[in-house]
Amino acid sequence: MIAEVIAIGSELVSGERLDTNSQWISQRLNALGIPVHFHTSLGDDLGENIAALGIAAGRARLVIATGGLGPTQDDLTRDALAAMAGVPLVEDAECLAAIEALFARRNRPMADRNRLQALLPQGATPLPNPIGTAPGIWMGSGSTVFVALPGVPYEMKRMFDEQVVPRLRECGAVGRVIVHRVINLFGRGESDIEAQAFDLTVRGRRPEVGITANDATISFRVSCDGANEAEALATMEPTLALIRQRFGDLVLGEGSTDVAAALVAQLERVDATLATAESCTGGLIARRITAIPGVSAWYLGGVVSYANHAKERLLDVPRTLLEAHGAVSPEVAEAMAVGIRSRLGADLGLSVTGVAGPSGGTPEKPVGLVWLGLATSAGVSTRKLELGPEQPRDVIQGRAAKHAMNWARLELLRR
Ligand code: ATP
Ligand code: MG
Repeated sequence: MIAEVIAIGSELVSGERLDTNSQWISQRLNALGIPVHFHTSLGDDLGENIAALGIAAGRARLVIATGGLGPTQDDLTRDALAAMAGVPLVEDAECLAAIEALFARRNRPMADRNRLQALLPQGATPLPNPIGTAPGIWMGSGSTVFVALPGVPYEMKRMFDEQVVPRLRECGAVGRVIVHRVINLFGRGESDIEAQAFDLTVRGRRPEVGITANDATISFRVSCDGANEAEALATMEPTLALIRQRFGDLVLGEGSTDVAAALVAQLERVDATLATAESCTGGLIARRITAIPGVSAWYLGGVVSYANHAKERLLDVPRTLLEAHGAVSPEVAEAMAVGIRSRLGADLGLSVTGVAGPSGGTPEKPVGLVWLGLATSAGVSTRKLELGPEQPRDVIQGRAAKHAMNWARLELLRR
């Protein structure tokens, strides 16, 4: 049963307000095993609403609309539903009594316009609204079920759960559950990873596998249906295992696990401590690691050594080195890593120095050139990143931070 969600309100299409109802309803429908194939947003215009409902009737068996059920001039959903179905609006006595009772409870006179909210397309069923004046509407037309709910998110949510879900179950629309799992990877490009996964992402495969990229973290999103959650999970487990095995140490973890969390998990696993010395990332690594609660046992601290002077004073980087090679150099990255490791007595010293741009690049040291240093008891090594020069400053800083943390993670993974 394909579903469509329609968000009605001029404030939504003008950009004044974000349509959050469609996202919420789609997540709920998905969990009920009802796939949503279409989202439509439109303003408060009667003709356009009738047209949109007609299009939905042609391509979806379940249509859930929100908004436009209020008593004001621009609330047109009930008129549009009636016109689309070719039936008149009729006053529903029960609805009217409920609206009158609500005003009586609040000790307020009822405006004439509120009477309009008791009008329903002929043959439709009202959905009681326990917290607002606008009742919802449940209506069959042709082979499609139309549901209209108020726009106010908390009214809509409560009515969806209390009124709509039981009716969907009753009419047999609730199908098999759909379960989603996400595996995150870092360290290679999206197209590279996709090239190694064509057999997984092929259309029509079950479980279904999709790839998305967000800030250089690549995510495999695995979806599978089943009679219940346990069955769906059991069906997708071999696919999850295959991804973990095929991509090995590129795998950061599941769900929302990103590079920082994966690094902290490794520090915890081998009980090692880390200290950081950051130049071009300005403390971003420290920020991301300390965003994870309870890391003080493994992350000792860091220094933002932005000027050469700070690299000398706080990290014991020799001035001769800075003068001979410049701050963005493997020699200085090395000295920063060694310096912070010994200053804080950490197992791992991690450093970053680079040209974040947009200015400051030279032909030899272009914007996006970053040197990383990693000092351990076994010695110190460096790594070069070329992230620019076309990338904006915040992207270069974010990528440099991620690559640095990922390098430390990989180092720990071998232990
Ligand atoms: P009522 O008039 O009874 O409050 P209604 O059905 O007429 O309900 P609207 O007037 O369209 O609803 O919207 C009421 C409020 O809910 C407004 O603040 C509106 O911006 C917000 N709203 C409407 N639709 C959405 C949506 N899709 N996502 C998030 N907020 C919404
Ligand atoms: Mg409105």
